[in-house]
Amino acid sequence: MNCNKCSELLADFLDGTLSGEDNQLFNVHLQDCLQCTSVREDVHQIMEVARAERGVAHAAPPNKQALWARIVNELDSEQHISKAAEASSRRATANATGFWARTLNKRWELSFAQLSAAVASIAVIVAISTALGVRRLPGDY
Ligand SMILES: [Zn+2]
Repeated sequence: MNCNKCSELLADFLDGTLSGEDNQLFNVHLQDCLQCTSVREDVHQIMEVARAERGVAHAAPPNKQALWARIVNELDSEQHISKAAEASSRRATANATGFWARTLNKRWELSFAQLSAAVASIAVIVAISTALGVRRLPGDY
């Protein structure tokens, strides 16, 4: 068993679908390999937090990078919408039509929903960081 093979088996191990022989080899490797042990703990923690947050069991662990990309996207679109709203606001002042006022209100509703989503995502990240931070205290292994 090497680290590559070990990481291939990780998902099956966490799902509890690893066969008896593979399961044994996997555990033997983890006893000798701090790196794979650490990866297993990290993924396990992320899965636990995700389960706790959503109350739904996930077949696959969430991808940390994908989660970050989503948060960055949310914040990005938040900025764009704010700028668009600002631009609309200037035009609304110029045109003084109800249309822009309505558009503006709609945009701020959407914006608030996105802000909430971003805040919720950040709360998940903080929870994960806390869980991992606690795990990495010296002497925990
Ligand atoms: Zn390893």
